[in-house]
Amino acid sequence: MISITVYGGAGTIGGNKILLEADDTAVSLDFGINYNLWSQYFEEYLKPRSARGLADLFETGLLPAVKGIYRRDLEPSWENIWDRVSPNTRIREIHLDAVLLSHAHLDHSGHISFLHHDIPIVCSTTTAFLVKAIQDSSRGDFEKEVCYVIPRERKEQDHRFTSKDYQQYRSIQRQFCFTDAKSISTEASKFWQESSTRRKIEPKQPITITTIGNLPVRNFPVDHSIYGATAFAVKTSQGWVIYTGDLRLHGKMGHLTRKFISEAKALHPIVLLSEGTNIKEEGSNITEEMVVNNALNKVLQAQGKLVIADFGPRNLERLLTFKEVARQCNRKLVILPRDAYLLQSLHLVMDEVPDPVEDDTITLYTEARSAVDWEKHLYTQYRKRGKCVHPDDIRQAQGDYILCFSFWDINKLIDICPGEGGVYIYSSSEAFDEEQRIDVKRLKRWLAHFKLLPVGIPSAKTGKVAASEQGFHSSGHASGPELLELIEAINPGVVIPIHTEHPRVFASKLSSTMQVRIPKIGVPIKL
Ligand SMILES: [Zn+2]
Repeated sequence: MISITVYGGAGTIGGNKILLEADDTAVSLDFGINYNLWSQYFEEYLKPRSARGLADLFETGLLPAVKGIYRRDLEPSWENIWDRVSPNTRIREIHLDAVLLSHAHLDHSGHISFLHHDIPIVCSTTTAFLVKAIQDSSRGDFEKEVCYVIPRERKEQDHRFTSKDYQQYRSIQRQFCFTDAKSISTEASKFWQESSTRRKIEPKQPITITTIGNLPVRNFPVDHSIYGATAFAVKTSQGWVIYTGDLRLHGKMGHLTRKFISEAKALHPIVLLSEGTNIKEEGSNITEEMVVNNALNKVLQAQGKLVIADFGPRNLERLLTFKEVARQCNRKLVILPRDAYLLQSLHLVMDEVPDPVEDDTITLYTEARSAVDWEKHLYTQYRKRGKCVHPDDIRQAQGDYILCFSFWDINKLIDICPGEGGVYIYSSSEAFDEEQRIDVKRLKRWLAHFKLLPVGIPSAKTGKVAASEQGFHSSGHASGPELLELIEAINPGVVIPIHTEHPRVFASKLSSTMQVRIPKIGVPIKL
């Protein structure tokens, strides 16, 4: 029997935590942060308290009450915690054989932070390197311990969980397993083992695998708004179970998604777990190529003026899009240390990603402020090659640059004093919730303050981008018609919609040709 229990990602976008059990093996398809639920309880200044271990996360239902999978050094010890968090459900205890991680977006990866470090993480080489770079360059946030675990202990006096002494205790790296048999260079291997802070890492060399427990596993690279995204197929004794992860067909690597569709079809799967972010969107998908052309025109029009490009975090494909625009317009692309760090890490395993230190178009934004260790190291590297740019340099030659800033960096513009008529290109997703719409309002206030021309910014009222303003962002997800075509082509026995607010649309469109099972949180679907 196959059992599929969705603990996250049912009726909502993101937070995928899907337990697949078959043939005495249990794997989790992703283990991400449910941001929708997270923001119902928390915000920037009200966060789950790391000093209380996992207690706040169980209390708010952000982590499923499943025994046997979590880090012991964060597990709260009071006895009735399990009864408190789910009084009417029988608490399950399982042995988890692995997590199949589809990509490095935190709504798919973030809560791996709380899983026991013995549980292997199966993903593409690119995803593993991104995951490490994201953790290395984060400032000690305990929801970002996806690559390595910082050991904690519980203090006797006040029961607080605190990090163990960094000189005595190393971070424990998780066992990463690559599904793409890529041999990595000595330099890449050095990066994998190296720590970005004073605490050293107890390194674990990644291994290549084809089977987890009793289940053969295959992966398929797909196109999404982050490099390294994959779909997975798991072979059970009853047939193949396929998981799409997040995907699209209209990016530069859309051909990968098409290849996945035809290979998945050939497996005649019994189950397809399909994402459905844009199931209600009719298409008119803007391609990455259109973004290049539209951005290029805007930057050419802004001759002699400052240009700011705002795109989603970790969307390095978009960063390289703007690098191409900058090159064609004879400008320098100014990137922040975190993006430089991600690029450098990915360059180690991806030929198509340039080394930012060597690239002629890229330059590093350098501020006079206290930097953490990895940032100091970057500054030294770039300074040696004369590739650091200060706010004063930009102020004096505004038409020479494109700045890769986001809303969260907007106050840096105070140091730059942008001249009237500069352009702010918003190349990110629409504002989905109330909080994002408030941020749009703030962003507009800042742009008005600096007399910058806003391009592609969503409405603060609806969160949508007006038709006349579209063309500067390309979604990371397939449209409704594309998703239906994909599912019909793969033709599974059963389709389970996940990562969507509209699972019923799947039922209404597909139930004449296949079984559609709409998942409920924590309720096993047995096949
Ligand atoms: Zn994603």
